Amino acid sequence: MTDPVIRVVNVRKQFGDIVAVDNIRFDVPLGSTTALLGGNGAGKTTTLSMLLGLLLPTSGEITIFGVNMLRDRYRVLSRMNFSSPYVDLPRRLTVYENLNVYARIYGLPDVKVRLRKLSEELNLDEFMNRPYGHLSAGQKTRVALAKALLNKPELLLLDEPTASLDPDTADYVRGMLERYKARTGATILLASHNMSEVERLCDDVIMLRAGNIVDRGMPSALLKRYGRQNMEEVFIDIARERRIELGLDSRKVTK
Ligand code: ATP
Repeated sequence: MTDPVIRVVNVRKQFGDIVAVDNIRFDVPLGSTTALLGGNGAGKTTTLSMLLGLLLPTSGEITIFGVNMLRDRYRVLSRMNFSSPYVDLPRRLTVYENLNVYARIYGLPDVKVRLRKLSEELNLDEFMNRPYGHLSAGQKTRVALAKALLNKPELLLLDEPTASLDPDTADYVRGMLERYKARTGATILLASHNMSEVERLCDDVIMLRAGNIVDRGMPSALLKRYGRQNMEEVFIDIARERRIELGLDSRKVTK
């Protein structure tokens, strides 16, 4: 078996009295698309921020591509990227200028060609020369995804990648992520509140509640275990602690 792309061991993050992430432990295998799910405040963004090195864990170890992120993260940052609705780009720079700056930070060989390709793929043409700060929320999400794909990352960390997108654009973006993954074999870890997105894209689900991992499995296995028809229902079961024991008739689940 190949080594996992991400290994999280006993990671905890405390903000004063608040335990945002409570000694979690998980691996993300090479080539998987794994969902990090949980209700508001469950610890998803905090976990992703620690994986990126934007936040330091209070304790625990994070290894990505075999590299200890707390010691040597600069060795692997060029192999990964992220998008998040919570991280803004400079607002006065145009979309093109923003992407151009990031492309140069990543040391891309042919910036113009790469930006043209991403602009086509994410339909950025109409606002490429507008200041980033003037864009709508959905347009910003598309720019964040373009930024995330600039360096053709082997590992993509996506915090709500289709937040604020209309259903048609969200569907298009999901298709684009599927094609990117099929083409490159990239590993993806994504936080999402959209359960149909999770069923479509993800082969593995990690469920967080109050900073703890409370369940994990393939969407099909979770549907079976909870006796549910879709991930929306499974999510509600887990978020509301209506856990059932393995093997129990799902009709016995109390409402
Ligand atoms: P959502 O679905 O609402 O985005 P989330 O699962 O991403 O939620 P986090 O943003 O990781 O949740 O927050 C986890 C917990 O940590 C919450 O209780 C939150 O209030 C707290 N928290 C996050 N960042 C900070 C901070 N900088 N200072 C204090 N508390 C924080």
